Amino acid sequence: MTRSKVGDHDVLVLAILGGSATPLSAYQISDIATARGSRVAVAQIYRVLERLTKKKLVRRVELLSAYMLEVEGTNAVFVCAKCRRAMGLALAGLSEALLTAATDRHLDVEKQVVELQGKCPDCSSTNMLP
Ligand SMILES: [Zn+2]
Repeated sequence: MTRSKVGDHDVLVLAILGGSATPLSAYQISDIATARGSRVAVAQIYRVLERLTKKKLVRRVELLSAYMLEVEGTNAVFVCAKCRRAMGLALAGLSEALLTAATDRHLDVEKQVVELQGKCPDCSSTNMLP
């Protein structure tokens, strides 16, 4: 097996996430890569995801234990419990307000995750049918 250039897997993972309607787990990304003829081990996918998350190109959705493309300015995510689609939300001042509230209480914040779960408009309207 030839060794891939650094970055090839980054591009592959970004393309797979970009083509998915829902956030994907490392296992799902590995399966899709394999189906496309690029076998990439799950451990390698995790390393790529970690790197892309640090670069703020990818966001981990904790509610789904999955990953989606990051949208600049997003500081919260809404996840549909029914169809698993996720939508980035941008609320000015949210991150700062949370950090201020925490530091006012002398809490040392290491990570900030704001996620909402519910039903998207498509899934809500489906429920309205008789
Ligand atoms: Zn939905």
